[in-house]
Amino acid sequence: MCSQIFNLCVHGRHKALLEYIQPLLSAQLPVEQHHQGCTDQNHYTIHSQRNRHLQGLLGTRETIPICRVRCQSCRAVFTVLPSFILRYRRQDADCLGKLLEMNLGMGLTLRETATLYSWMGIEHGWQPGWIWNLVQWLGNLLPVFLLLMRMGLSPPKHLLSDEKFAVLNAEQVNLFLVSEQELIWYGKSMTTIDEDSFTQTIETFCVGMDGAARASEYLEAEDEYVPISVTTDGWIAAQNAWVAVVSSVSLIECKLHGNKRVSCSLDEYVKAHPDLPSEQLEQVTADFNSILKAPSLAAFSQRIRRNLVRYHDEPILLKRLNILKDKRFRFTNVLKFKDAPAYSAPLDRSIRFLDEKLEVSGQFRAEHAIDPMLNAWAIVNNLRAFLPGAQKAGQSLAQFFGAKVKGIPWMEVLNLCTVGTLQNLIPTLS
Ligand SMILES: [Zn+2]
Repeated sequence: MCSQIFNLCVHGRHKALLEYIQPLLSAQLPVEQHHQGCTDQNHYTIHSQRNRHLQGLLGTRETIPICRVRCQSCRAVFTVLPSFILRYRRQDADCLGKLLEMNLGMGLTLRETATLYSWMGIEHGWQPGWIWNLVQWLGNLLPVFLLLMRMGLSPPKHLLSDEKFAVLNAEQVNLFLVSEQELIWYGKSMTTIDEDSFTQTIETFCVGMDGAARASEYLEAEDEYVPISVTTDGWIAAQNAWVAVVSSVSLIECKLHGNKRVSCSLDEYVKAHPDLPSEQLEQVTADFNSILKAPSLAAFSQRIRRNLVRYHDEPILLKRLNILKDKRFRFTNVLKFKDAPAYSAPLDRSIRFLDEKLEVSGQFRAEHAIDPMLNAWAIVNNLRAFLPGAQKAGQSLAQFFGAKVKGIPWMEVLNLCTVGTLQNLIPTLS
């Protein structure tokens, strides 16, 4: 598509060019972008043409003719940029995409990324700070949740949420993440992790989702985004905050974390009973494991009751049984929904890359830079293609979750999505 525009521009075939870009202009230039009183957004003339220089990853420099068109009705002038040119950027989409992937997806430091780029030739005076600016630029382009919706993904019904610690100037900062399995929908830093901070952060997330979902026509103007369930690792402040913001949400507690806490209680029990015969320990372990494996809320509750009777004089075990009893809904809610995750492990997998990223480089130079960096990381995590040999080889997480990109490279998809919904911009996309 882009090379087509390019050819027509170069050869001055303006009539053919106008015919070619007409449907795209109609799709991409809503009436709000025309002058007031514009009555027809479907007829344009060529206004002017100028050259633009573009730099590729391997040092290649190209000169690209850029054409400007004028609306025949209101006389507003628009620049027609092919999807491989990003506004205000000298490098082409391929180059920018690969640099961002190196830095945010492969865990290279700013310095390493900048060095690799300088090896490709040409560009002088390259500094790590430039990569830093590039990451911040990406992070400020558009929120990852809006990008995913513009790529055609509907707001997730079942969420995972988790917190992560990071360090900023030797102080601890907390990163709050929301995902649909591995696909990251939101990331935000919090200075404290009390219930109020979580409530505020979750509220901000939900309000953002409302706006994006309405704009992308997933919600009616008066409707709100209401996730059905959220799986957490059991942090009470976060769980309470979710219920405070979304009163109908079903809380699900990650089974792995549940199992770990049961193991801790059993270890404690063994220490308190050093002479416990091994068969007896096996029995206790089996009794406790069967609770978390219960196939229904009724079975879960019944197994708790039996064990409360069985271990009525064992305070360590009773304490754990009572916690499990209090959390019976959180551990069995997952059984109500086919698509809700029982474990927070998928999010952990994505976070692992973030962890490595945070460890190798002091990415967080300033507080205001954290959220854009998180957003940029989430975008690259979701849009870059998995390497050959991977289970999802060749496609990105976003594609795995249903986004149709028709072979367009991810940086160009992103570029298009800054304008509007992919499906509307390229009507032939299916
Ligand atoms: Zn107009």
